[in-house]
Amino acid sequence: MKYTEIMVRYGELSTKGKNRKRFIQQLAKNIRLALVDFPKIKIIAERDRTHLLLNGEDSDLLIPELKKVFGIQSFSPVVRVEKDLEEMKKMAVSIVREQFFEGMTFKITSKRSDHDFELDTTGLNQFLGSAVFNKVEGIQAKMKKPDLDLRVEVRMDAVYFSFETIKGAGGLPVATSGRGMLMLSGGIDSPVAGYLAMKRGVELEMVHFASPPYTSAGALQKAKDLTQKLTVFGGNIQFIEVPFTEIQEEIKAKAPEAYLMTITRRMMMRLTDKIRQMRKGYVIINGESLGQVASQTLESMQAINDVTTTPVIRPVVTMDKLEIIELSQKIDTFEISIQPFEDCCTIFSPASPKTRPNLELTREYEARLDIEGLIERAIAGLKISEITPLGEVGNVRLEDEFEDLL
Ligand code: ATP
Ligand code: MG
Repeated sequence: MKYTEIMVRYGELSTKGKNRKRFIQQLAKNIRLALVDFPKIKIIAERDRTHLLLNGEDSDLLIPELKKVFGIQSFSPVVRVEKDLEEMKKMAVSIVREQFFEGMTFKITSKRSDHDFELDTTGLNQFLGSAVFNKVEGIQAKMKKPDLDLRVEVRMDAVYFSFETIKGAGGLPVATSGRGMLMLSGGIDSPVAGYLAMKRGVELEMVHFASPPYTSAGALQKAKDLTQKLTVFGGNIQFIEVPFTEIQEEIKAKAPEAYLMTITRRMMMRLTDKIRQMRKGYVIINGESLGQVASQTLESMQAINDVTTTPVIRPVVTMDKLEIIELSQKIDTFEISIQPFEDCCTIFSPASPKTRPNLELTREYEARLDIEGLIERAIAGLKISEITPLGEVGNVRLEDEFEDLL
């Protein structure tokens, strides 16, 4: 079938009241981004639906891309014909013929916004229904749950036929909920957490802690590759690399072994929060999953979260590892995540970290460190780059961009 347009339905967007217009505009922008390879498409964003005029682009190629755009409930490929009963009849018959299988049932569902059209909806259903019935041998009409429901819409300019509804990604358009900082390791969980946050409209910036030479260039590249995978859901992403070596060495030298992990995590949290402030984000997002490892018990979460009042969103907190893996396969991050590069946390992690850290003791041990100085130096060494669906562009020192904030 050579479709002429795709009709996009919004779902949850329709409940957004005053914000609705902004949501619809952002969605149009995100669709444009997702369909950069299809420059001929024209996007017409309306209150109730968005229409993508294909202008000759192949719908089969763009449908997989459209399925990834958050904020789309469902969409239907549509074919346009002139407002001429003969043309309409031909189209109805040709669609049914194309879709036909032995024993197939069908019905016609007409709608019209042009009330001056020569047939009303009942008349149209009958006219097109009998044409199909007469021309397609073996077809049966069925009003309830037919195999093929051919929808015909008579608008002012033309008539539109559609018969399939494709499920969209749901959620809210990326960047309509504001900005959040994703603590991105090279593991399986944090990219999935990022994906789920994007699904609810968050615009992500990545914060990645690197401890060279203990962690390799490969580990850093892995985090960037994961970021690249996530760009397909919402466009370019800022990647912020935090130098973490000095902090890890300092903690290792000064804190008791059992508290290394807790204190390290607290430092990560403080730094992420500081970067969030600089980058005008609202929340921190991480890939913690309850009970998965020592740092992810409720006691640990409390001890780590103690350093900030900023909301920390944990999208995978209640998911089992297998559920997270399933999602990571769906979004195509799994294969990258399982590449064997050491993470900064694995390298410094003690043989038996405290699963139930004591908050008072944590604070006491931490007081042995020059926290402010450590944070200041790490922030001064931040490196920011932009990751696009095609890879990395530019590598700017954050220092240069945010001089006045440091
Ligand atoms: P993941 O699969 O996301 O690495 P994990 O199960 O390995 O998670 P941890 O290594 O304990 O768990 O990390 C918990 C969370 O802390 C991660 O999901 C991530 O959000 C954050 N985190 C860990 N290491 C880093 C890092 N090097 N840079 C940024 N964030 C990190
Ligand atoms: Mg990890």
